[in-house]
Amino acid sequence: MSKRDYYEVLGIEKGASKDEIKKAYRKLARKYHPDVNKEADAADKFKEVKEAYEVLSDENKRAQYDQFGHAGASGQGFGGFGGGAEDFGGFGDIFDMFFGGGRRRDPNAPQQGADLQYTMVLDFEEAIFGKETDIHIPKEETCDSCSGSGAKPGTKVDTCSHCHGTGQLNQEQNTPFGRVVNRRVCHYCSGSGKIIKEKCNTCGGAGKVKKNKKIHIKIPAGIDEGQQIRVSGKGEPGINGGPAGDLFVVIQIRAHDFFEREGDNIYCELPINFAQAALGDEIEVPTVHGKVKLKVPAGTQTGKMFRLKGKGAPNVRGRGHGDQLLKVRIVTPTNLTDKQKELLREFNELRGNEETEEQDGSFFKRFRNAFKGND
Ligand SMILES: [Zn+2]
Ligand SMILES: [Zn+2]
Repeated sequence: MSKRDYYEVLGIEKGASKDEIKKAYRKLARKYHPDVNKEADAADKFKEVKEAYEVLSDENKRAQYDQFGHAGASGQGFGGFGGGAEDFGGFGDIFDMFFGGGRRRDPNAPQQGADLQYTMVLDFEEAIFGKETDIHIPKEETCDSCSGSGAKPGTKVDTCSHCHGTGQLNQEQNTPFGRVVNRRVCHYCSGSGKIIKEKCNTCGGAGKVKKNKKIHIKIPAGIDEGQQIRVSGKGEPGINGGPAGDLFVVIQIRAHDFFEREGDNIYCELPINFAQAALGDEIEVPTVHGKVKLKVPAGTQTGKMFRLKGKGAPNVRGRGHGDQLLKVRIVTPTNLTDKQKELLREFNELRGNEETEEQDGSFFKRFRNAFKGND
């Protein structure tokens, strides 16, 4: 990947003025803009022009480029000072120095506070119907006494004289690529760029204090396991006047005795005795919305599913309700009385006679025949 000289790309002299650079760029950008130019290499040319302009239009970048060129400090890396520079290990820092790239952190620049995460455990029904509640979280707050400066009120905060407030110390080094500059966190000010002479008594110089903060949380009906509620601006406070982070409330749901949830549908087993299953019945079944009457038709088998439309969980995005699904399980009676046993034997005999009259190939007949030899 050989790179053309940026002056050459823009077709200008080394000593070109700012206006000349701008003019040349505008002309070429118009010419190669992919919306206008349909030639195959137009996009690449446009990119090249843009890159050249980005460097030469910035006084610092231009000075670095004039001094080091492509080959000296950057070589192949020049084109990639977005992400590619990182491929060269330690060189990422050098590019930052040259171009003030995005990774450079100015300790005095406003920074967003950290996000916080809070796990909230809900009962099954609470997740279905939602709720409002207050939570208390230990949270860093800007110290009121020093307004976050960390210095005792009335005392001065000095700019660190070692790093001149940048929080970074530069270390120059000669390498085969030329002179390179490595940056280190300033150990005099721990990277803050400031020297506090007298620390604030309340926060000990941190500028922040831990407080138990009460936050009101609204949990929408139908929230599901693992979903998060984002409470904007309730995370850690920002630094240097930056915005606060966000609070994420992560939902966990306690298991229910007999309901299970899958998305907006609720599943539940329906135990019935075999008389109900054989004869049919109307029974009351529990749903999260209260009891509902269900007709079990005669001849219902184990595993049969009944669907109660709209009796599931509400959709958390307001798209209606899920269903409740009931799976039949026929419960075999135990601890029978003598009378019950007698009736069952009678039933079985009647049933046996019926079955012999059934056509050949009935399941029970085949089943019985399979065991005949063992008698
Ligand atoms: Zn303080
Ligand atoms: Zn410093």
